[in-house]
Amino acid sequence: MAHKVRKLEYTIGTALAAGADTLVTVGAPQSNHARLTAGVRAGRRELLSQVPSLDLAVVALGSGGTMAGLVAALGADRVLGVDTGAMDEPAAAVAAMVGELTGSGLRDRLRIRSDQVGAGYGRLTESAAEAPRLAARTEGVALDPVYTARTMAGLIAAVEDGTVTPGRTTVCWHTGGLPGLFGRTEAVDRFGSALERFPA
Ligand SMILES: *Cc1c(COP(=O)(O)O)cnc(C)c1O
Repeated sequence: MAHKVRKLEYTIGTALAAGADTLVTVGAPQSNHARLTAGVRAGRRELLSQVPSLDLAVVALGSGGTMAGLVAALGADRVLGVDTGAMDEPAAAVAAMVGELTGSGLRDRLRIRSDQVGAGYGRLTESAAEAPRLAARTEGVALDPVYTARTMAGLIAAVEDGTVTPGRTTVCWHTGGLPGLFGRTEAVDRFGSALERFPA
């Protein structure tokens, strides 16, 4: 959740500088600017320096700030957002934030999968329950049930339907969120048993 921490560095830094001593927060976007700045930083500096030949980054789409930052840095063609069901109109939200950053919303060209939403934000889907097992078994990587499991499930679906093809440099962007795993004993048990069956 480094991207959320970066957002907080901006908002809280500003609040402290203004002499604030109390923080009130709600579950809605507050500072688009801070969020976008964070996303662009994450996209350009960290990702491209590690993977210069990147063809596609697959990323969870919650409020859309992370995807918008990546689109601004990489272009719409190189980012596939996997909708988590957090918003009614994710494409419009991402397009608006990209527009603030680049002057062009690129709405028609945004690549967003909506097949992993299931019963809605925060509700475990069958494919999001399955994806962490595969990631644990084959990569030793832990996924959270809300964001990164959906991201991986979206990538798996994209491979299955031919959107993502062999030979392309594809990155599944792990946005963190592991504490989400511990709120669900069922998910923790599945992850643990996946590791037990396939010791390192
Ligand atoms: C918040 C969050 C996201 C979604 O990021 P947005 O910028 O809101 O789209 C993805 N993954 C994790 C783990 C998160 O906590």
